[in-house]
Amino acid sequence: MRPFELTAPSTVDDALAAPGTVLAGGTTLVDLMKLDVLTPEHVVDITALPLRGVHGSATGGLRIGALERMSDVAAHPETPAVASRALLLSASQQLRNMATIGGNLMQRTRCSYYRDVTVGCNRREPGTGCPAVEGANRMHAILGTSDSCVATHASDLAVALVALDARVELVHADGGRTLALTDFYRTPGDTPEVEHDLRPGELISEIVLPPVPDSVRSTYVKVRDRASYEFALCSAAVVLDVRDGRIADARVAVGGVGTVPWALPAVAEALRGAPLTEEAFEAAAASAADGARPLAQNAYKMSLVRRTVVRALLEATEEDRT
Ligand code: SF4
Repeated sequence: MRPFELTAPSTVDDALAAPGTVLAGGTTLVDLMKLDVLTPEHVVDITALPLRGVHGSATGGLRIGALERMSDVAAHPETPAVASRALLLSASQQLRNMATIGGNLMQRTRCSYYRDVTVGCNRREPGTGCPAVEGANRMHAILGTSDSCVATHASDLAVALVALDARVELVHADGGRTLALTDFYRTPGDTPEVEHDLRPGELISEIVLPPVPDSVRSTYVKVRDRASYEFALCSAAVVLDVRDGRIADARVAVGGVGTVPWALPAVAEALRGAPLTEEAFEAAAASAADGARPLAQNAYKMSLVRRTVVRALLEATEEDRT
């Protein structure tokens, strides 16, 4: 690892005034610094900032401090099931004890070429090409890709939060702003090195969840090569408002298949008013891969994404269907 200057402010104002690469739990950044993928000269350790706490309730709306640990949020009784499950299916217990919620949303792709500085990668070094397009791309994205980059977004939690219609609160020395999580992430286009809308000098301060009524059923299903400590080949987050044996409202998002956490508004629309049957779920999920651009080794994700959505819908409504 290369030498760097470390500062550790204790107030948000001091942190916003300190230029450098932000360090929270460090579970991604330190790895990438060891690999020479990221070589910051200045690192700002923000772990002492007062950006913690889970405030509110599931049914009234929840505000989660960006520095809350993944394990604490997963275990919190007010955390909606879909978010709790996504967190528990992420990484290992040791990593969940270190990693923060804000850092989880900011984690970098797990594309193996991105982490290998001996090969080109447009995301790591713009203009050096994308070896994944013609190379080993079994794990890569089919939705939201471009000729410049086909890497998947790595966060399970972000997929659940998109399905929950979450927002991020951002702070800056000049003031704050709020963004829907769906507007926060950027698909790669011609500039894959620009992954999100966080501007220079901004920090994520809170994640805000809208109210989740008691009639909502939600879950997160993750399909991966092994049972634990592995990234998703495909995942699905579903949030369903079930009333009188039918779906009154729905939100659906998928992971492991998109360059960003991928919302499926057409699937959600098809679910509204639908009965709780497998046939209705399969019909609604039929459009889940619309617009996909499969590569040589990942066309299997076309059907996998539809089946994963159906499985999540069945799991979420299991008690209502018996
Ligand atoms: Fe780099 Fe993206 Fe290509 Fe992976 S998919 S090698 S991150 S440009």
